[in-house]
Amino acid sequence: MRIDLHAHSNASDGTDSPAELVAAAVAADLDVVALTDHDTVAGHAEAAEAVRALPAGARLTVVPGAELSCVVDGISMHLLAYLFDPEESEFARERDLVRTDRFRRGRAIVERCRELGAEISWEQVQQIAGAGSVGRPHIASALVEAGVVPTVSDAFTADWLANGGRADVRKHETDPVTAVRLVRAAGGVPVFAHPGAVKRGRTVPDQVIADLAAAGLAALEVDHTDHDEETRVRLRGLAGELGLLVTGSSDYHGTRKTVRLGEHTTDPEVYEALLAQATGAQPIGH
Ligand code: AMP
Ligand code: FE
Ligand code: FE
Ligand code: ZN
Repeated sequence: MRIDLHAHSNASDGTDSPAELVAAAVAADLDVVALTDHDTVAGHAEAAEAVRALPAGARLTVVPGAELSCVVDGISMHLLAYLFDPEESEFARERDLVRTDRFRRGRAIVERCRELGAEISWEQVQQIAGAGSVGRPHIASALVEAGVVPTVSDAFTADWLANGGRADVRKHETDPVTAVRLVRAAGGVPVFAHPGAVKRGRTVPDQVIADLAAAGLAALEVDHTDHDEETRVRLRGLAGELGLLVTGSSDYHGTRKTVRLGEHTTDPEVYEALLAQATGAQPIGH
């Protein structure tokens, strides 16, 4: 079983449409892929349709999810949520708040970039983002188009879009203990995404992870391209101490990042344990 529990479509900052993501997951020989766009479930319907339309004999299952933007003591962090009821109103309202504020903040970042001499426009960023939940990676793509930086990842430096960088503007983000409770109340399963991704900025102290575990966190995403081996060993130890499961996933973003779908995967027993905790939605099979 090849299980990848973290992937983005163009419903947020990935480059594949949800249907293309489903096709890419089949091509990557995956049994399970989770669709976890930032702060939105807008890609779920198309992904469900695509998986149901696969030829007989296909064995892909799509786990509907999302990745919620959170902040604690000024440190941004991401909470994956699987198999929650997308109609449950309190969690839906929180996703809506974050998504809406992404527009105000996107405009402000573009303004800052222009003040700093980058000839990009909000219209251009909207064109790149399409209907997607707009974020810094779309602005990074605009900076690449304008010849300001060579690649998307080169835009995530102190000069431009990195956390605390010259053109970084904060958005509304949820307190993670609240977020864990919202996900559970919607029947979902919350997992801390890339908790040790130091290249993205400051990471939260272990005490915060302990607080999240006490609030109902299910797992830590340990096998992730942004974690070195030492970080993985440390996080595995912490998960063991706190009674948390451990997942692995690619955090695929299509051509916006270099990581391949299925590059990191989750153990089947862990997947089954996560499924057993979910009451808000079902995985979508062929
Ligand atoms: P936003 O949600 O708009 O704040 O943007 C955060 C997104 O930017 C993350 O989900 C990643 O896709 C991307 N990102 C953050 N840090 C980096 C980095 N150092 N290199 C490349 N992409 C990054
Ligand atoms: Fe992203
Ligand atoms: Fe993330
Ligand atoms: Zn992600």
